[in-house]
Amino acid sequence: MVRSRDTDACPGALQVHQAADGALVRVRLPGGVLTAAQLATLARVATGFGSATLELTSRGNVQLRGVTDVATVAEAIAKADLLPSPTHERVRNIVASPLSGRVGGNTDIRGWVDELDAAICAEPRLADLGGRFWFSLDDGRADVSGLAADVGVHVFDDGCVLTLAGRDTGIPVSDITATLVRVALRFIEIRGKHWRITELADFGDLLPGAQPGAAFPPVATPPVGWIPQDDGRVTLGAAVPLGVLPARVADYVAAIEAPLVITPWRSLLICDLDEAVADAALRVLAPLGLVFDETSPWLRVSACTGRPGCAHSVADVRADAADALDADTAVHRHFVGCERACGSPLSGEVLVATGAGYRALRNNDVLG
Ligand code: SF4
Repeated sequence: MVRSRDTDACPGALQVHQAADGALVRVRLPGGVLTAAQLATLARVATGFGSATLELTSRGNVQLRGVTDVATVAEAIAKADLLPSPTHERVRNIVASPLSGRVGGNTDIRGWVDELDAAICAEPRLADLGGRFWFSLDDGRADVSGLAADVGVHVFDDGCVLTLAGRDTGIPVSDITATLVRVALRFIEIRGKHWRITELADFGDLLPGAQPGAAFPPVATPPVGWIPQDDGRVTLGAAVPLGVLPARVADYVAAIEAPLVITPWRSLLICDLDEAVADAALRVLAPLGLVFDETSPWLRVSACTGRPGCAHSVADVRADAADALDADTAVHRHFVGCERACGSPLSGEVLVATGAGYRALRNNDVLG
């Protein structure tokens, strides 16, 4: 469902959304990157001033619900270096291959994330980009290009190409950051009431000669379990049921003091671990509810906020999704409380609450 508004209502850490259960604060994490100390800060403020949970979003961000003191939370987030630009906080939307630089891929794109983030924050005009516009950097493993971000690059064996709305334009890119910023600035000039590049009729208005080429297929599940890194260390991939990480569990994760990545599949990577530390962490975190089994049915179910957090919902969709957990289905199912279908992945079924059960809003299709 395409929604065009005159104003950008996307929440951030300063401009929050008043949800049915109180203020909703969303913290952007370019590339999903987070330090252990930053996670500990988020867990602390979620416990002190919110619902004591951290919600991981389908863009690799974190949001806090039911926040009772927005100013104090914003101050803590800023002190933790999670709010580098008050004017641009909602437009720092960068998704990047979460395992880049540690496992496989054609190149290490982590430095590009920092460079692009800095360039976005340094360009005053990009403050008008809107909180829904996002950038993607795929290191060649084809994990995030299929998420259909507005503009990005995909690194092939023989160079980078520009992607628009998850499609391969075939346009080679050498100066990554400058090109992505240029496309975003052009979008601001021509967007009218649109907030996403997918809503434009013609990519040629954006970039002369740009054609929507082949779409990258969406990836539906996160990297999970014991993941050996190229340098001999280990990353633990932890799925988080329904993307809701209790602050108490986040504290245990932070105590490992390892680099962290929140993935766009609402999961967590705990990186750069020695084997003994990884083994100990696994034994502590699995009983706390984090999922390290790639066959777990929790990897094939997701849900929007639903009741009681969202006034639009006719059901507690998270509870219903948990009740409907099905080890026998291979199809991803996303449960939503109304036809807005927030957070729907690009493939799998979408089931909408009717007040008397659920009906299929979308069957097991892949959006083109
Ligand atoms: S899909 Fe509807 S019920 Fe669910 S979070 Fe979005 S607006 Fe709320």
